[in-house]
Amino acid sequence: MRRAVCPGSFDPITNGHLDIIGRASKLYDVVHVAVMINKSKQGLFTVEERLDLIREVTAEYGNIEIEAFHGLLVDFCKQRDIPAIVKGLRAVSDFDYELQMAQMNIGLSGVETLFVPTNPTYSFLSSSLVKEVATWGGDVAHLVPPQVLSALTDRLPKP
Ligand code: ADP
Repeated sequence: MRRAVCPGSFDPITNGHLDIIGRASKLYDVVHVAVMINKSKQGLFTVEERLDLIREVTAEYGNIEIEAFHGLLVDFCKQRDIPAIVKGLRAVSDFDYELQMAQMNIGLSGVETLFVPTNPTYSFLSSSLVKEVATWGGDVAHLVPPQVLSALTDRLPKP
C-alpha cells in the first residue's frame, strides 16, 4: 500500500486543502489527513469538529484516513509506515519555511516531502484569511465546501 500524509491545522478545511488532498488521493492508495494539535493555539473549531468536517468533505474520495496528532509529524509517519508528506505550495512565501521543514524531516527520519503546486484559483487562500473575511460578513462561499460554510455561519457572530 502506498501511503502519504497531508498535515495541517485545518481550522477549518478550505477548498485549497481539499484540492491538495484530492490530488494526493489519486497518486496514493491511502492518504492520511493529520490534524496537528497545537495546545498553545485555540482554534475557531475544536479538533473533533475539524475532524468531522474533513470526514464529511473527503468522504467521496474513498481512500482518506483522518486523525488528530500531537507531536512530531515524522513520528506520526513512522508509526503508520508512511514514507511521504504531501504539501501544497501557494507562493514563494511558503517555500522558505516548507523547505526548512522538508529538510529537517528527511534528516530526522528519511520521510520525503512532495510539493504540489497550488491550483492558482486558491493560491491566496488560507484558513486564517477565510475566518477573517467571514468574521466581517464577507462572502467565502467559493472558498470552502458548503458544510464548512454552514459551520462558519453557525460559529461566527453576525457582523
Ligand atoms: P493554513 O495555512 O490554511 O492556515 P494549514 O496549516 O492547515 O493551514 O495548512 C496545511 C497545509 O495545507 C499547508 O502547509 C499547505 O501544504 C496546504 N494548504 C493550505 N492552504 C492551501 C491552499 N490554498 N492551496 C494549496 N495548499 C494549501
